[in-house]
Amino acid sequence: MEAEIIRGSEVSKRVKEKLAQEISKLKAGGVHPGLAVVLAGDDPASAIYVRSKGKACEEVGIFSETYRLEASITEEELVSLIGNLNADNRFHGILVQLPLPDHIYETTILEAVDPLKDVDCFHPVNVGKLVAGRPYVLPCTPAGIMELLNAYNVTPEGKNAVVLGRSNIVGKPMANMLMQKSRNANATVTVVHSKTRDIASFTRNADIIIAAIGQSEFIQADMVKEGAVIIDVGMNRIPADNEKGYRLTGDVDFEGVKTKASKITPVPGGVGPMTIAMLLKNTVAAALYQSQ
Ligand code: NAP
Repeated sequence: MEAEIIRGSEVSKRVKEKLAQEISKLKAGGVHPGLAVVLAGDDPASAIYVRSKGKACEEVGIFSETYRLEASITEEELVSLIGNLNADNRFHGILVQLPLPDHIYETTILEAVDPLKDVDCFHPVNVGKLVAGRPYVLPCTPAGIMELLNAYNVTPEGKNAVVLGRSNIVGKPMANMLMQKSRNANATVTVVHSKTRDIASFTRNADIIIAAIGQSEFIQADMVKEGAVIIDVGMNRIPADNEKGYRLTGDVDFEGVKTKASKITPVPGGVGPMTIAMLLKNTVAAALYQSQ
């Protein structure tokens, strides 16, 4: 069996087309959705993500401005900038690109963002709402994955889902969303992490595997049940003898696993584009909410 490829690049295009229409209606009514992007330091991967996010905003008609800051910026200066952005009504969303420079305490910065402008769903108020089952906006990567499952007619209800990784950005909210008591979720969820013994014993029982650990090609074919649905969140840069000096791999051995899975996301072109599309969707939702 050869798995069906879950093409995030195509699904995200459809999401963006729909958003563009919604945005032009909003603009006609005097609301121009805006996103402020904050990039501190010179991490090359972060610079690439920020550029793609800016480009995506432009494509759909969201106003966006990127604040590029020196790695030496102090925590106080960053908090003060965020305070200004909270008060700036051109922006309905504020995105702080992670990771931040080592001397800055991430929690302080993420908690400085007005929860109504927290389009990443990182603020504890919004995390709490998510866990309670009445979210303000959904965290971008897990939301993108739920949309992909839906677009490819994968119903999590009653299924065994294994989430690899327990980060605040992906693993924890993903597990939470899959287990919510709702029509599109209702999965039985297991979360595994770096202290889990015998990960394969969990993944072999999984109908849905979501891999978000940042370990290149960790999931091999012998860890996967025949017919499982595989979502690969990983984005690993492996040194390579090419122009870029690296190649991108996922957390799943795509070539090996695709002969066993029923559906699988590629890297790139799977989850990544959906994360950006959900950021745009959240910015529009925040603009709508704030303009009411
Ligand atoms: P993270 O914060 O580094 O968390 C990694 C998680 O994986 C941790 O829970 C860690 O366990 C676990 N882990 C690490 N090595 C492991 C191993 N050998 N076995 C089992 N568990 C292991 O990473 P993240 O932000 O969640 O990102 C994960 C991956 O997804 C990265 O490759 C990242 O680039 C990618 N990503 C992609 C997108 C996208 O849009 N495509 C978005 C976000 C992230 P402990 O908790 O025990 O340390």
